[in-house]
Amino acid sequence: MQITALVVAAGRGTRAGGGLPKQYRPLQGAPLLRHTLRALLADADVTALRVVIHPDDLALYQDAVQPLTDPRLQPPVMGGESRAQSVANGLAACQGDVVLIHDGARPLLSREALARLIARMQTAKAAFLAVPVNDALWFGADDTAERAVSRENLWRAQTPQAFDLPLIRAAHAKCDEPLADDVAVARAAGIPVEIVMGDENNLKITRAADFMLAEKLMRQNMDIRTGNGFDVHKFGPGDQVTLNGISIPHSHGLVGHSDADVGMHAITDAIFGALAEGDIGQWFPPSDPQWKGAASEIFLRKAVERATLRGFTITHLDCTLVCEFPKIGPHTEAMRAALANITGLDPDRINVKATTSEQLGFTGRGEGIAALATATLVKI
Ligand code: MG
Repeated sequence: MQITALVVAAGRGTRAGGGLPKQYRPLQGAPLLRHTLRALLADADVTALRVVIHPDDLALYQDAVQPLTDPRLQPPVMGGESRAQSVANGLAACQGDVVLIHDGARPLLSREALARLIARMQTAKAAFLAVPVNDALWFGADDTAERAVSRENLWRAQTPQAFDLPLIRAAHAKCDEPLADDVAVARAAGIPVEIVMGDENNLKITRAADFMLAEKLMRQNMDIRTGNGFDVHKFGPGDQVTLNGISIPHSHGLVGHSDADVGMHAITDAIFGALAEGDIGQWFPPSDPQWKGAASEIFLRKAVERATLRGFTITHLDCTLVCEFPKIGPHTEAMRAALANITGLDPDRINVKATTSEQLGFTGRGEGIAALATATLVKI
């Protein structure tokens, strides 16, 4: 089943105050929309992700998605005059069997609720997350309670709302009145829609106070981890070494099954360490000939992909190279840029430094290079 997540983020969000459209306002240190997209990318069953944006917001969007290197994120689609038109524009760009239509302003979608919805779509034509109404309901006239309304069988709709893609596309095409949501569009076309238990925390950020509530909920769930990595490669024949993605001329090369990029191996292991997912050798066995001479970028990209799928953000990387020669200092800025390019981190969250071992030990004798790394990962 090919599943495209379609995030609707073309609104102006004026009720939340604060100048910027709410989906781009900072929430726990990152634009709100980035959290929403990460929540969807955390499910490996989501095969593609597309965002519908307002044409004025292209620069804000690019800033919001800049760290998201996940290849499932497709170019944005421009919204229309109304939410319905924006959804229709997005549906026209979607591919696959199923579409999950999700509000850009729901950053707290849980993995469990998303998995429940996707599981239901194995059999349903349409389904959506909703929570039962728990409060007593009253019909009021002006400020006066007139009569109680039964809350039996009443649900509060959330998103994602999931649909068979061709069916919802056709339903939108023939819908010409403004309806409450995409479930209403589907029902107007006669499509049966199933209810899947949502999550009270999956709130839609609407007012300024919702930002504070969302941050409080995020802090309760925050998971901060560090991992370390260590690697050694010995010198052998050659005229250059590759360190953190940068080729440096040298009197020797480094010996290894891959390109022997000792720094990138240590960083990759640090990320696997923080995830508690073993080490580089388990993911890329040296006994497997396909990794012979491989660019170590492949290993690091895999670790970053695993972090994304587990819902973690890599917030910091620190790498120390230990050798007498070659001199590392002139190349550290290029290494930071190369690592930033691969991982999607800002360069100011990546450090590369070097030390000698005072001519002691194997590094001191110039027999090889050692590298240590620390990675910090956060899940909110
Ligand atoms: Mg290695």
